[in-house]
Amino acid sequence: MQPILCLRCRREIETGDKSVAVYMFAQTVGVRPKQKSTASRVSFCPQCAVSLAMGLPPEGALNMAAWEMIRDLVSAEPSLNEAAWESLRGVIGLLSSGDERESSGRNRRVG
Ligand SMILES: [Zn+2]
Repeated sequence: MQPILCLRCRREIETGDKSVAVYMFAQTVGVRPKQKSTASRVSFCPQCAVSLAMGLPPEGALNMAAWEMIRDLVSAEPSLNEAAWESLRGVIGLLSSGDERESSGRNRRVG
Protein backbone atom coordinates (compact mmCIF):
# COMPACT_ATOMS: atom_id res chain seq x y z
CA MET A 1 0.00 0.00 0.00
CA GLN A 2 1.26 3.46 -0.85
CA PRO A 3 1.67 5.82 2.05
CA ILE A 4 -0.63 8.84 2.04
CA LEU A 5 1.25 12.11 2.23
CA CYS A 6 -0.08 15.54 3.04
CA LEU A 7 -0.12 17.34 -0.30
CA ARG A 8 1.24 20.52 1.23
CA CYS A 9 3.89 19.52 3.78
CA ARG A 10 4.53 15.90 2.68
CA ARG A 11 4.04 14.63 6.21
CA GLU A 12 2.91 11.01 6.19
CA ILE A 13 -0.72 10.48 7.17
CA GLU A 14 -1.15 7.09 8.76
CA THR A 15 -4.34 5.06 8.84
CA GLY A 16 -6.56 6.47 11.54
CA ASP A 17 -4.75 9.81 11.63
CA LYS A 18 -6.90 12.89 11.45
CA SER A 19 -6.76 14.46 8.02
CA VAL A 20 -8.84 16.05 5.29
CA ALA A 21 -9.25 14.10 2.06
CA VAL A 22 -10.32 15.81 -1.16
CA TYR A 23 -11.70 13.44 -3.80
CA MET A 24 -11.80 14.33 -7.44
CA PHE A 25 -13.06 12.74 -10.60
CA ALA A 26 -13.93 14.07 -14.02
CA GLN A 27 -16.87 13.12 -16.17
CA THR A 28 -17.97 14.15 -19.64
CA VAL A 29 -21.30 15.91 -19.97
CA GLY A 30 -23.43 15.92 -23.11
CA VAL A 31 -20.95 13.76 -24.98
CA ARG A 32 -21.54 10.18 -26.14
CA PRO A 33 -20.24 7.83 -24.96
CA LYS A 34 -20.30 9.21 -21.48
CA GLN A 35 -16.89 8.93 -19.86
CA LYS A 36 -15.77 9.00 -16.29
CA SER A 37 -12.20 9.26 -15.09
CA THR A 38 -10.86 7.30 -12.18
CA ALA A 39 -11.18 9.08 -8.88
CA SER A 40 -8.13 10.47 -7.19
CA ARG A 41 -7.64 11.62 -3.68
CA VAL A 42 -5.40 14.24 -2.12
CA SER A 43 -5.00 14.57 1.62
CA PHE A 44 -4.07 17.36 3.99
CA CYS A 45 -2.97 17.05 7.60
CA PRO A 46 -5.05 19.11 10.05
CA GLN A 47 -2.43 21.87 10.36
CA CYS A 48 -2.25 22.38 6.62
CA ALA A 49 -6.03 22.23 6.25
CA VAL A 50 -6.51 24.88 8.92
CA SER A 51 -3.63 26.95 7.62
CA LEU A 52 -4.96 26.81 4.06
CA ALA A 53 -8.48 27.67 5.17
CA MET A 54 -7.30 30.70 7.10
CA GLY A 55 -4.91 31.86 4.41
CA LEU A 56 -5.52 33.91 1.32
CA PRO A 57 -7.42 32.41 -1.61
CA PRO A 58 -5.10 30.47 -3.91
CA GLU A 59 -4.54 31.02 -7.63
CA GLY A 60 -6.31 28.85 -10.15
CA ALA A 61 -9.86 27.55 -10.46
CA LEU A 62 -9.16 24.04 -9.15
CA ASN A 63 -7.22 25.26 -6.15
CA MET A 64 -9.98 27.75 -5.45
CA ALA A 65 -12.63 25.02 -5.51
CA ALA A 66 -10.63 22.85 -3.10
CA TRP A 67 -9.90 25.84 -0.89
CA GLU A 68 -13.59 26.64 -0.58
CA MET A 69 -14.41 23.05 0.38
CA ILE A 70 -11.69 22.98 3.03
CA ARG A 71 -12.86 26.33 4.36
CA ASP A 72 -16.36 24.92 4.69
CA LEU A 73 -15.08 22.06 6.82
CA VAL A 74 -12.71 24.10 8.95
CA SER A 75 -15.23 26.84 9.64
CA ALA A 76 -18.13 24.48 10.38
CA GLU A 77 -16.82 23.30 13.73
CA PRO A 78 -13.64 23.37 15.79
CA SER A 79 -12.67 19.68 15.65
CA LEU A 80 -10.08 20.13 12.89
CA ASN A 81 -8.67 23.18 14.60
CA GLU A 82 -8.37 21.14 17.76
CA ALA A 83 -6.59 18.34 15.92
CA ALA A 84 -4.17 20.87 14.42
CA TRP A 85 -3.61 22.44 17.81
CA GLU A 86 -2.98 19.06 19.43
CA SER A 87 -0.35 18.01 16.93
CA LEU A 88 1.34 21.42 17.02
CA ARG A 89 1.46 21.12 20.78
CA GLY A 90 2.92 17.63 20.44
CA VAL A 91 5.71 18.93 18.21
CA ILE A 92 6.54 21.81 20.52
CA GLY A 93 6.48 19.42 23.49
CA LEU A 94 9.01 17.17 21.77
CA LEU A 95 11.28 20.07 20.86
CA SER A 96 11.30 21.66 24.28
CA SER A 97 11.52 18.55 26.46
CA GLY A 98 15.20 17.95 25.65
CA ASP A 99 16.83 21.22 26.63
CA GLU A 100 14.34 22.58 29.09
CA ARG A 101 16.95 24.23 31.27
CA GLU A 102 18.75 26.04 28.50
CA SER A 103 15.61 27.69 27.22
CA SER A 104 14.17 30.80 28.83
CA GLY A 105 13.65 31.00 32.57
CA ARG A 106 9.92 30.57 32.30
CA ASN A 107 8.40 27.54 33.91
CA ARG A 108 7.06 25.36 31.17
CA ARG A 109 5.23 22.18 31.80
CA VAL A 110 5.50 19.47 29.17
CA GLY A 111 2.82 16.86 28.75
ZN1 LIG B 1 0.46 19.03 6.01
